[in-house]
Amino acid sequence: MTKVLIVEDEPRIAAFLCKGLEARGFSTLAVDNGQSAVYLANSHDFDLVILDLGLPDLDGLTVLNTIRGQGETIPIIVLTVYDDLHHKVSGLNSGADDYITKPFQLEELIARIQVQLRKKPQAAGQLDPILKVGDISLDFRQRQVKKLGQIVELSTREFTLLELFMRRNGETISRLELLNEVWGYDYDISSNVVDVYVGYLRKKLGARLIETVRGVGFRFKA
Ligand code: CA
Repeated sequence: MTKVLIVEDEPRIAAFLCKGLEARGFSTLAVDNGQSAVYLANSHDFDLVILDLGLPDLDGLTVLNTIRGQGETIPIIVLTVYDDLHHKVSGLNSGADDYITKPFQLEELIARIQVQLRKKPQAAGQLDPILKVGDISLDFRQRQVKKLGQIVELSTREFTLLELFMRRNGETISRLELLNEVWGYDYDISSNVVDVYVGYLRKKLGARLIETVRGVGFRFKA
């Protein structure tokens, strides 16, 4: 299983990342300071690091420089609110493999993690490229969905929502959780976007596939 080290001092974001990545089959450990990050990044226990730049003890760029200074090549994705070019350039010059700014969407982060893992042959095979539940199969390499062998065209968001439902086949998932997982942690919770997208999936894949659980959310049943 691919292990991700999350370095983030904001508990809400750390929890969002752990939960989101674990739902996608990663194993995670979150730490809230730079010293632990340096120690653990060099432990060879992890496949990738997600690094917040604003940390309480060491600055994230110092953490990055220290890890790289020790010759460690683990992929590091910098996560930060600083979206100006200056920080971006210094982050990448210090040896970050990629850069993502807050607020971010989970699906975007996961896509970038997968890009980094694909560069690393020993980790790449660990993510199963095809997920099959009932009549439906998702091919992650080709971003393709098939029902009974027939290709069904889905948008990126529909694909992500369907993946979440399929991984949790038979479970009731609340609207709030779906919003958090698919649209990102700071999405407006009064929005009816989940209902709209469930509608799209029903239209494309069959109305009976996703049940409405009154007052709670939805349940996928394949
Ligand atoms: Ca921070």
